[in-house]
Amino acid sequence: MSLKNKVALITGSTSGIGLGIAHRLAESGVHIVMNGFGDAEAIEGHRSDIEAKGVRCIYHAADMTKPEEIQDMVKTAKDELGQVDVLVNNAGIQHVAPVDEFPIEKWDAIIAINMSSAFHTIRNVLPHMKQQGWGRVINIASAHGLVASPYKSAYVTAKHGIMGLTKTVALEVAEKNITVNSICPGYVKTPLVEGQIADTARSRGITEEQVVNDVMLKAQATKKFVTIEQVAEMVVFLCGDAAENMTGTHLSVDGGWTAQ
Ligand code: NAD
Repeated sequence: MSLKNKVALITGSTSGIGLGIAHRLAESGVHIVMNGFGDAEAIEGHRSDIEAKGVRCIYHAADMTKPEEIQDMVKTAKDELGQVDVLVNNAGIQHVAPVDEFPIEKWDAIIAINMSSAFHTIRNVLPHMKQQGWGRVINIASAHGLVASPYKSAYVTAKHGIMGLTKTVALEVAEKNITVNSICPGYVKTPLVEGQIADTARSRGITEEQVVNDVMLKAQATKKFVTIEQVAEMVVFLCGDAAENMTGTHLSVDGGWTAQ
């Protein structure tokens, strides 16, 4: 089945992995609802680049910590584009600190943005997907949804949580032609990771080069960062017919990290 003229809502798609997914889906003829923060001019530039691929692209600025804004984003998507066929829960932030020094507001923000926002998007989108009898929910989790690293208590907790949400919702909608899966990338060089390099260097008292070689790529057996395009291609696969009977599970793209 072609994805042409389907509609995808991608949270956190003004940057990094989410933006890459938006471009890749647009190349398959999918209309896009873009979301995330950033400079208004830059966002408008991304929006028009996506529309140049021959699809519609609307932007909604919903803050993923605000359930009422998430509800309004889903309503706007349906009002303006008629449907939501594919939901990609991608928005995420990171903070690196020992647990006993972890700022409470950072913990709350990471749990809200990286985990609870997916509950809010899913609960707003599912009734519509059930009614139309088709849907794809794809949660961008992480290798940190499967294994831990020190100093990332909130992130690892949120990503493990999203894996549980994936399995639970998958079972609830399994007979409705709606699949729910996660993708678990290792390190992808995006603005989120660029920020972590400096933070981790500070937390561990090592150089930024040591963070890349001895911390980030240490467990990645291939010694290569995952690319945004590799993650985006998995989203397309999960939307396709070959993945129709795949639900409640995850795809790892982590250079061998979680094989160890
Ligand atoms: P990024 O910083 O480039 O992009 C994050 C996006 O989320 C941006 O569009 C940002 O504006 C948006 N965002 C942040 N807070 C928001 C909020 N309150 N409301 C709405 N949008 C908000 O990061 P990225 O590396 O592309 O990460 C995207 C996802 O991939 C995250 O969930 C991250 O945990 C996950 N991930 C990233 C990596 C990696 O190595 N980069 C690895 C595994 C998983």
